[in-house]
Amino acid sequence: MGADMVDWYARAEVARDVIRISEPHVNELVSANFWWLRGNDRDVVVDAGLGVVALREAIPGLFERDPMVLLTHAHLDHVGGAPEFGDRAAHSAEAGLLAAGVPASLYGAELYDKLGIDAAGEPVPELMIDTLPGPGYDPATYRVEPLTLNRLLGDGDRIDLGGRVLTVLHLPGHTPGSIALLEERTGTLYSGDVVYDSALIDNLPNSDVAAYRRSMEFLADLDVSVVHPGHGHSFDRTRLRQLAQTYLRGRAGVVPSPTRRCPDGT
Ligand SMILES: [Zn+2]
Repeated sequence: MGADMVDWYARAEVARDVIRISEPHVNELVSANFWWLRGNDRDVVVDAGLGVVALREAIPGLFERDPMVLLTHAHLDHVGGAPEFGDRAAHSAEAGLLAAGVPASLYGAELYDKLGIDAAGEPVPELMIDTLPGPGYDPATYRVEPLTLNRLLGDGDRIDLGGRVLTVLHLPGHTPGSIALLEERTGTLYSGDVVYDSALIDNLPNSDVAAYRRSMEFLADLDVSVVHPGHGHSFDRTRLRQLAQTYLRGRAGVVPSPTRRCPDGT
């Protein structure tokens, strides 16, 4: 990496062999967490970020054990880095979108238009990144290439990393093929955009509020110890239950804001 390149990714080991990777220079709407999980036999990475900066150079060791990327759903902030992985999996309901190339832009107005987001009178950011990753980077060149999958995931599928097993939970609503991944042994849920501690988005063109409500009913009763979401900070079962119940009371469903502001600004 050149000396004048920005340190694009932030990393934190949140539990043994569980590393959160985030993108602090990305606008909150598309600044996602992704999760590097190390098993005894192999690694997986849950989601892959926006793909502005190549992961292979920026995150030493990430590709050492040829990890599989598990995509929680087909949105740019979760799949942009996925082409770097040789082994790619997502729910079958997202495969078509991924193969077509997910809508993507670093320009706010163009991105809102492509995703079908209604800004509802809020200012639209001109650029979705607050700095360029390096000199000469041209945001106009950003795109997410069409992606094929090696493995199609369905509800109940299990992914065994050796000493660590993830169970696929199909929880549609945000998108038709949204999934979360549950490690039952530790009660750890990787929830993607199904649930995080901020305004949830259920008003995109392929969102489904009725399906989202069923997903939230399921989550309200799920026994977990910690949720590692696709956006913002991690939280416990009590907060998960509160977030699910808040959604089911209808508040999240009627808030048109596309932003994901957290109370603590993360
Ligand atoms: Zn999303």
